[in-house]
Amino acid sequence: MKIMKFGGTSVGTSQRMHDLVDIINDDETKIVVLSAMSGTTNDLVEISQTLYSKDNDLAGKLINDLEEKYRDVVYETYNEKSSIYIGIELIKLHFEFLRSFTRDLFTINEEKAILAQGELLSTAIFHLLLQERKIESVLLPALNYMRIKENGEPDMPFISENLNKELCKFAGKGLFITQGYICRNAFGEIDNLQRGGSDYSATIIGAVLQANEIQIWTDIDGMHNNDPRIVQNTYPLAELTFDEAAELAYFGAKILHPTCILPAQNRNIPVRLLNTLHPDAPGTLISAKKTTVGIKAVAAKDGITAIKIKSGRMLMAYGFLRAVFEVFEHYHKPIDMITTSEVAVSLTIDNDSDLDSITEELRTFGVVEVKSNLSIVSIVGVFPANKPSYVNSIFGPLSEIPIHMISYGGSENNISILVETKLKNETLKALNKGIFNLE
Ligand code: ASP
Ligand code: MG
Repeated sequence: MKIMKFGGTSVGTSQRMHDLVDIINDDETKIVVLSAMSGTTNDLVEISQTLYSKDNDLAGKLINDLEEKYRDVVYETYNEKSSIYIGIELIKLHFEFLRSFTRDLFTINEEKAILAQGELLSTAIFHLLLQERKIESVLLPALNYMRIKENGEPDMPFISENLNKELCKFAGKGLFITQGYICRNAFGEIDNLQRGGSDYSATIIGAVLQANEIQIWTDIDGMHNNDPRIVQNTYPLAELTFDEAAELAYFGAKILHPTCILPAQNRNIPVRLLNTLHPDAPGTLISAKKTTVGIKAVAAKDGITAIKIKSGRMLMAYGFLRAVFEVFEHYHKPIDMITTSEVAVSLTIDNDSDLDSITEELRTFGVVEVKSNLSIVSIVGVFPANKPSYVNSIFGPLSEIPIHMISYGGSENNISILVETKLKNETLKALNKGIFNLE
């Protein structure tokens, strides 16, 4: 069994959907996981926000505009009159459902039902296209098997049991289409795996079915050594370990959802990143196979806030860090970077909600300084502590750039530095030249 997940741009136009049919149409048994067509989830978010602010007229207009786009997709995608008829009816159904929210109370549950429509639409449209092209396939409703627990984590035993039940209904079939991103929560309500979560759906499905490979198809040929949106000369990496890929995804490589590596890593299932525009390109293979010592890639994550707590009480004291961390735990704030000196601790968070309350509580320990608009630049690779360090190759090129924090040795795979966001591009370019010898 193979899992193939295609992102929003891979199903973004009718032409791309036709190309997709050619990519998936072979004899191997597979589950195809689809995102919403590109832009749709953003549009649905906008519609929800408009409904929250009770501007139901505007919401109605936005829904009509989106429906118009989907009607065009139907006319462009299908050749046969009967498919066009079914396609238009199908779209009517989804948009009537969306319009019903302009007449009703609007809460977070309604919002989640709205956000689910993107993937429900893309999979239904694609499934109908397969039917028109006489390719047998089964549409598996993710809402019948994908579920998260109260803490937001996937409920693996439930998913395994119910996905297998769904598949058993179609013994002998080889091509399954399903929705990424959407799921039910512990109360059975419609929910989702957070923005970009279709990758996560694919690796969860791959893990519970013990697939032989999980493929994530986007429109770039794998993970690159640097951010191709910022740095001109970058190249795709042939191989990464699960740990390296997880660090890169978490610290800014937009190609993968940060949490999606874990289910594959837990069951040791290789993940391959491929490009729908160049289906024959080798892409990036992520697996447990050890890679060579050295620097593989750099990535950057924006929106970082640094908090420094300076306290005489920290001198020779124990229990101080625990007390500081408890404040962050209380506000459900994950900490990304941390460095300490004898009298101070600096750490970073990537979401500054509750910042005022947090700093107020921290002031009971000492002087608190807060700095926003920062970026973490992560250098990812294999850096064993018993080998010569890479300090010169990394910091040599950055001699002109002010650095706010450095984290080295936290893991064998990551060295992180904190810079002002306005210097991020310069930092990434300097590293590309200094480390990879690319301008
Ligand atoms: N459609 C969802 C989003 O745009 C999920 C995904 O594409 O992965 O976030
Ligand atoms: Mg994505």
